[in-house]
Amino acid sequence: MENVIILGTGCAGFTAAIYAARANLSPLILEGRQPGGQLTTTSEVENFPGFPDGIDGFTLMEHLRKQAVKFGARIENAFVDKVNLKESQKILFSGEKSFLAKSIIIATGAGPRLLGIPGEREMYGGKGVTTCATCDGAFYRNQDVVVIGGGDSACEEALFLTRFCSKVTLLHRRNELRASKIMAERTLAHEKIFPVWDSTVEKVLADDDGRACAVEVRNLKNLEVTQVPCKGVFIAIGHIPNTQPFDGILSLDENGYLLPEKGSMVRTSIPGVFVAGDCADHIYRQAITAAGMGCQAAIEAERWLAEL
Ligand code: NAP
Repeated sequence: MENVIILGTGCAGFTAAIYAARANLSPLILEGRQPGGQLTTTSEVENFPGFPDGIDGFTLMEHLRKQAVKFGARIENAFVDKVNLKESQKILFSGEKSFLAKSIIIATGAGPRLLGIPGEREMYGGKGVTTCATCDGAFYRNQDVVVIGGGDSACEEALFLTRFCSKVTLLHRRNELRASKIMAERTLAHEKIFPVWDSTVEKVLADDDGRACAVEVRNLKNLEVTQVPCKGVFIAIGHIPNTQPFDGILSLDENGYLLPEKGSMVRTSIPGVFVAGDCADHIYRQAITAAGMGCQAAIEAERWLAEL
């Protein structure tokens, strides 16, 4: 039986692995469908402490992987689709295969919800379509961008983008924002943010270099289709946490995020089961906060194993 199995190879998973490996727990990391996690889709990470000149997401994840392996972590490719979690033992199933552990750290991350429209996938990550203003906003200095969505995330993204961009068009499918009152008021009062109501984006249009240059927008009231020129398309229509195997076994909130026990950021209701990163955090969703949770989860796992 393994001491600790870590699910996920994003910032949370690899940081947990570095700490667990340095505690001589010889952790096994199960790499899911997106090795390296969401950061591997980001071109440049400028806000991870310790890299004053920035680092591209893929390289950062390669560094974390190397560091985890150097201290004795083992990596196996397996997508966990079913679990049986008891205090005495945790069984993880990946198709026909199963893994047995005394403790587990769930760091399965979350994926941005996308629209599923033409142009979106083709230009995603480096060609003008993105889901992270904090990561990519600075690349659109003095340019016009659009933000799609009407929740707190969309407002937060739009407000953040006003620091760099000349104009932020906020495209929302209804005529009022879903965001909290204070966020909505702040957003609508901003001189650089221009809301477009009752409108859905149907297509992202590319220039000759294959980069986004406009979105095609349909007004749902009069069905008119117009083009909104923009260099950046920020999609902020929510995230989907990768927590399906734990539904009905661990506490999830109404959006599917894992809920830690009261008084802890990483402990769950099942002793020896810990959570870290975006699968349990819908608020901060940053590489550094995920890494911090991974560290906490590994320390908690180490203490729990020591008490066994
Ligand atoms: P959200 O509240 O679920 O809002 C998603 C927005 O995207 C909604 O306005 C929704 O429109 C729109 N949308 C969803 N699917 C769409 C589609 N297919 N096409 C067009 N529009 C679509 O998600 P979120 O903004 O990411 O927030 C998630 C949670 O995190 C919320 O509880 C939020 O309060 C919290 N959060 C808090 C903060 C903060 O407090 N600072 C910041 C970010 C997030 P409709 O309104 O028409 O449904």
